[in-house]
Amino acid sequence: MSAEKPYSFFQSVEKSFDKAAKFTKWDNGILEQIKACNSVYRINFPLKRDDGTIEVMEAYRVQHSQHKSPCKGGIRFSDAVNQDEVMALAALMTYKCAIVNVPFGGAKGGIKINPRNYSVYELEKITRRYTSELVKKNFIGPGIDVPAPDYGTGEREMSWIVDTYTSLKPGEIDGAGCVTGKPVTQGGVRGRKEATGLGVFFGVREVCNMPDVMEKLGLPVGVAGKKVVVQGIGNVGYHCAKFFRENGAVVVAIAEHDGAVYNVNGLNEEELIQFRNKTGSIINFPGATTLLNTLDALELECDILIPAALENVINGDNAQKIKAKIIGEAANGPCTPEADDVFIQKGILCVPDMYLNAGGVTVSYFEWLKNLSHVRYGRLEKRFSENMNTHILGQIEELSGKRVSEQEREFILRGADEVDLVHSGLEETMIAATREIMHIWLSNPEIPDMRTAAYVSAINKVATTYVELGIFP
Ligand code: GLU
Repeated sequence: MSAEKPYSFFQSVEKSFDKAAKFTKWDNGILEQIKACNSVYRINFPLKRDDGTIEVMEAYRVQHSQHKSPCKGGIRFSDAVNQDEVMALAALMTYKCAIVNVPFGGAKGGIKINPRNYSVYELEKITRRYTSELVKKNFIGPGIDVPAPDYGTGEREMSWIVDTYTSLKPGEIDGAGCVTGKPVTQGGVRGRKEATGLGVFFGVREVCNMPDVMEKLGLPVGVAGKKVVVQGIGNVGYHCAKFFRENGAVVVAIAEHDGAVYNVNGLNEEELIQFRNKTGSIINFPGATTLLNTLDALELECDILIPAALENVINGDNAQKIKAKIIGEAANGPCTPEADDVFIQKGILCVPDMYLNAGGVTVSYFEWLKNLSHVRYGRLEKRFSENMNTHILGQIEELSGKRVSEQEREFILRGADEVDLVHSGLEETMIAATREIMHIWLSNPEIPDMRTAAYVSAINKVATTYVELGIFP
């Protein structure tokens, strides 16, 4: 990674925004309002550690935009957290939600800790205290601001948040909707855990199914047979690897913070995770070559590169060395604006974070709707569909005098479960967003890349909402 950065992460988001704003018709004041972070809440609070010492925690919640309520965005636990990073990530949430038509403003939270250095009990105390600080200032609630998992957090932390919130707000009927990414037993929705990775897969698959785009890249149509490198084997990276592999792609390398493993014939992410659980690291995974410098994995020969960890990993220093034809940004902000310039020059297609990794927040939206409606998806219609399908199939068989196979029967008769509906809602969302952005990009030859087209889409949608709300009379 570059030692000196010419500008901060938030400035790099602003830079990409400005690049796209030129292709819109909005006047400068509206654009400035869209770009600005509306509220920044910085918190310090004490933690009494297991050994009795006191440590001061540094935490943030940033609400970038309230053009739609509530605001939405994850909470990350990482020792790289700072105000600028949280602001940048909150801004990306605004644009991401707009592109995929999820009716939320953007927000993000962060606590500056490396969770590996804290016990589970300490993490619970940190998460609960952070939540109560948000409650005190009205920075959390199903109609105000709804956090979710992000780097370094998951279902466990979301359970602590919902429990703290609901105990501080007894009787609030929609309290479960104060946070998403909860375990299913705590009001979560089936399909949320794999949502970001699955959304990345659906988005990249849609691009790979576009014959004109593939022809320009010199690649055959379709995902099957393509060589994929995944950086990061957290929840997002793991599910990306899984869905690409299950759909016929070959995952040739997987990288983690302490090294990468490579096998030209393909890796199985599940076996790799089992190995890491046993040994504490993915390095020396049997049957694969280990690369001790994890950044080397980004420069491997492959068709699709999926950075699924942190921001700024592909920058002015290493972009020239990238050999992938397609980059699917599963992480938030993995490529810098300098890298984007190199991609344009080298003809690499970068499928941008701000919509490609929107699967997480899309399914969070489904979870929030489930919490507000207090009913599981599919509960009302599953049995009805099964009865109706049985009836239709019976009529067809009677009239045709033929019977379908047992396997087909099972497939046709089945009514949708919650997870089927969530996956199908996600698939539809990602396909529609990919087509919309491609359409914007391809219909204006001046727009240099897909990221700029995605920003154009986001700016138009947010600006339209502001104007329709009468905020700019
Ligand atoms: N942290 C995820 C993201 O960056 C999910 C946010 C959410 O579900 O609200 O998109």
